[in-house]
Amino acid sequence: MAHLVVLSGPSGVGKSSVIGKALEEIPQTWLSVSVTTRAPRPGEQDGVNYFFVSSEQFDQMIAADELLEWAEFTGNRYGTPRAQVQERLDAGIPVLLEIEVQGAMQVREAMPTAVLVFLEPPSWQDLKTRLVGRGTESDTEVEARLNAALSELESAHLFDHVIVNDDVSRAADELVSYLR
Ligand code: 5GP
Repeated sequence: MAHLVVLSGPSGVGKSSVIGKALEEIPQTWLSVSVTTRAPRPGEQDGVNYFFVSSEQFDQMIAADELLEWAEFTGNRYGTPRAQVQERLDAGIPVLLEIEVQGAMQVREAMPTAVLVFLEPPSWQDLKTRLVGRGTESDTEVEARLNAALSELESAHLFDHVIVNDDVSRAADELVSYLR
């Protein structure tokens, strides 16, 4: 069966950049599109970055058991639609999920062969600088995300592999090796 790889890591660590670079090397890999109740950021497209849904729609998806995993993160809910992942895996297509830690642990329960990878910042200061610097969140939201990051970093040891994002290309190469 094709690989299912989960990439987690604190907000601001650079998951998207590493994934972007990795997918250039292995374009046949499919990056799952999650559903979320959070509002789109400027430039984000429905069905591309996320499926943006109401809280009621999210409830319905949970009730219908349509989510492989889901979690709440700083006041919004995020989840992985099960069918789209299963279809790809059945077709032999490697799948990558970019989700937070609680979701990663649910995936391990549901699909024990999944490979769980944690992306770590080189330092706490580096993470803080990146998260504040990208300017996509309010001060309150940045604070909430840094709080979440503290507990996420403590969960790194639960993962199969830890990649330190001190160099995007190198980190991407390591991720590619788990997807191949
Ligand atoms: P953001 O709001 O920055 O796009 O995402 C916030 C956090 O939610 C990130 O850590 C991201 O990886 C995570 N996330 C995105 N989609 C999902 C999902 O489907 N499930 C879970 N559990 N987390 C997700």
